[in-house]
Amino acid sequence: MKEILVLGAGYAGLKTVRNLQKQQGDFHITLVDRNDFHYEAAELHEVAAGSQPRTKITFPIQEVLNDKTTFVQDEVVTIDRDAQKVTLRNHDALHYDYLVIALGFVSETFGIPGAAEHALQMVTIPTAERIHEHIVETMKHYRQSHDPNDLRLLVCGAGFTGIELAGALTDERKKYAELAGVAPEQIEIVCVEAATRILPMFDDELAQYGLQLIEKLGIKLMTGCKIKGINPGEVLYTAGDDEQPQTIKAGTIIWTTGVSGSPVMGESGFSQRRGRVIVNDDLTDQEHKNVYIIGDVSAFMDKQSNRPYPTTAQIASRMGAHVAKNLAHQLRGEATEPFSFVSQGTVASVGNTHAFGVVGKTKVKGYPASAIKKMIRNKSLNDLGGLKEVLSLGCFDLYH
Ligand SMILES: Cc1cc2nc3c(=O)[nH]c(=O)nc-3n(C[C@H](O)[C@H](O)[C@H](O)COP(=O)(O)OP(=O)(O)OC[C@H]3O[C@@H](n4cnc5c(N)ncnc54)[C@H](O)[C@@H]3O)c2cc1C
Repeated sequence: MKEILVLGAGYAGLKTVRNLQKQQGDFHITLVDRNDFHYEAAELHEVAAGSQPRTKITFPIQEVLNDKTTFVQDEVVTIDRDAQKVTLRNHDALHYDYLVIALGFVSETFGIPGAAEHALQMVTIPTAERIHEHIVETMKHYRQSHDPNDLRLLVCGAGFTGIELAGALTDERKKYAELAGVAPEQIEIVCVEAATRILPMFDDELAQYGLQLIEKLGIKLMTGCKIKGINPGEVLYTAGDDEQPQTIKAGTIIWTTGVSGSPVMGESGFSQRRGRVIVNDDLTDQEHKNVYIIGDVSAFMDKQSNRPYPTTAQIASRMGAHVAKNLAHQLRGEATEPFSFVSQGTVASVGNTHAFGVVGKTKVKGYPASAIKKMIRNKSLNDLGGLKEVLSLGCFDLYH
């Protein structure tokens, strides 16, 4: 019996397992994740803002496994491709015939001094929960301190993640204001961003719409401001061509400027850049045909732009489905198929009822876009968790 080892139960890894479980054949799957639950990483900003509890974006991994799969809850430490062995923190090493690496992303601070120490990260359920706890503590602190900086929430980066987070924070403004005992208008939400043009994945018209929406929601956007360092409660930046550093203080500073693939890739000797490994057309490792690398640890080249596709939940899940198909081919002694990707579009939510983006070739804005975003989430939940998880976690109140 062939042993298939899948590392990571995120969008990529869990999709691989779900689809493989439907295949016939003489194989057994072992799935490893540090958590005993799957979490929807694309919804972490909701937990960070306090709009959703963790239970609304997670489900137990065991619930979606059948008797073909054994689950091991542990942390992957290193991967030895020559010995076909994976070392875990607390269990004996695991051996495999086929390996699927889907260990996802970590925060990237680009070596900016103080970013790791003095800014809150938003990359896992505990880090997202920590952000919410911090906001609550800081708002309550204002009642004694009367320091207006306690009322300022500063998001470092106005990329997709930063904008979605800022939107979720505006939704909760009233609650924060109540905790602090002030008017909602006194809660200030600021995004500091190095680029002068935000959301490069959208054309000028959509990006302009996004900017207007951000302004309408009262989010202060500081573009063209390069973050140079973070001290406790303070961000240092330079604006435009002015080299003179300036500072902005905030009781809550959240880091969303970028992500890298898991450090396990570099620590295991993969040839990688920021934790991402360039893969073959069929998603296998360039040196080992029995090793697949998918999701945010994978760099799959877009032949048109000659750059890797951006890492998203959408491509991660599609890669997972493709790997399940290729593994079935390999188990039957057949050739693997090349992976191809056409994006189905991108929709950015700015709070619960506002969104904008592109679906297929159609631009979507406002309430309809927000409903579409929720339907995209329900589809993803269905793919990974099935009807049971859609019924317990899905968004059916599409307009509110
Ligand atoms: C706030 C936010 C909003 C986003 N919005 C969107 C969006 O709207 N659309 C979109 O397509 N994408 C979005 N993304 C990006 C998307 O979430 C990622 O691209 C996606 O999660 C990658 O999937 P993955 O399966 O590769 O990794 P992950 O989802 O990160 O899963 C990795 C899994 O591996 C486990 N793991 C990691 N390291 C170890 C270890 N050493 N040992 C054991 N287990 C480990 C983790 O617990 C996790 O379960 C967003 C991301 C964020 C943060």
